Amino acid sequence: MAKASQNNKNTGDRSRQRPALALLLAFLIAAAFFILSDVSFVKSARDSLMQKLGYEAIDQGDSNESSGENSSAENSDVIPAEWDVTSDIDPAALPEYNGQNYVKVSGGTPVFPDEVCERAGLIKDGDDWKTQGNLFGTVDSNKLTPYECYGSPDDLGRCTYAFGLLGEETMPQEGQERGDISPVHPSGWAKAQNWERCHLIAWALSAENANPSNLITGTHYLNYDGMRPLEEEVEHYIWDTGNHVLYYIKPWFKDDELVARGVQMTAWSVEDKGEGISFNVYCFNVTPGAEIDYRTGIVTTEEQAAQDARVYVINTRSGVFHYPTCDGVKEMSEHNKKTVTATRTELTSQGYTPCGACEP
Ligand SMILES: [Zn+2]
Repeated sequence: MAKASQNNKNTGDRSRQRPALALLLAFLIAAAFFILSDVSFVKSARDSLMQKLGYEAIDQGDSNESSGENSSAENSDVIPAEWDVTSDIDPAALPEYNGQNYVKVSGGTPVFPDEVCERAGLIKDGDDWKTQGNLFGTVDSNKLTPYECYGSPDDLGRCTYAFGLLGEETMPQEGQERGDISPVHPSGWAKAQNWERCHLIAWALSAENANPSNLITGTHYLNYDGMRPLEEEVEHYIWDTGNHVLYYIKPWFKDDELVARGVQMTAWSVEDKGEGISFNVYCFNVTPGAEIDYRTGIVTTEEQAAQDARVYVINTRSGVFHYPTCDGVKEMSEHNKKTVTATRTELTSQGYTPCGACEP
């Protein structure tokens, strides 16, 4: 009795399973189609099959092996300068220094060329990025490929750009010593002008030392007030989370000048999609109070400038002196105008006041 009723039960279950099996099959076909739709047919067919069979570890093993060797120089390569990028900066109208260490570019939102993301092992997911085989648009650390890339210098010997996917793999390894960078003379390097060799991708993030494609002529202000705080933010984030950061650095030059006017820094944390790190800024290669000739690298400090005789226009009625190019000079009536060649110190000691607009 007991046996017979059990058999009946089983037969009944089996007939009820048929629609459920069909539904499961339809779901699997839909899921497989979803995976196959955004990558090359063979590779994703293999991946999805491996996943179904529980072999997810195979891909991870591959990328772990390659990223393990990815310490600095061996895996960093140089790419042609012509390989250009998207940017919202207009080279003909670079931002003017206004007292801030940096200004936002594109509202501060990072923008990366597709190639930069794809080399990191990311694949397009609508407007977003994910790693291969991740159905719900997530990024799997183990499927990423950390790397560094340095644009080759242009015809004038100027650095072009550097980018990569930075992580613990690209950072200096324990005990790795920082080498001597003094043999490198970046474009615009003028003697005794207090210039610093400024890394595009910091040593702490890239373990790159005397790489001429990664060093520019920079001011202490650019190095320490502009770039350093942002570099440290990225460095601490990587140490704290073990995550990876897409990074893009580009020095901006005006015309044929040899010293960069500024450096664009773009960074985006990949695993948490910008929650930890997300910025796109332009840092100024200036020294507040000093005048830089960006064609030659000659720096004139405020004190030196005050000692140099030059042409000023004095308003004899108000006692204010201007640079000849100031709008205040155009508005001045001719009989109040007096053009002199003098030093700034001479004029102030004679009781004249520098114009607030042209700041002579
Ligand atoms: Zn003026």
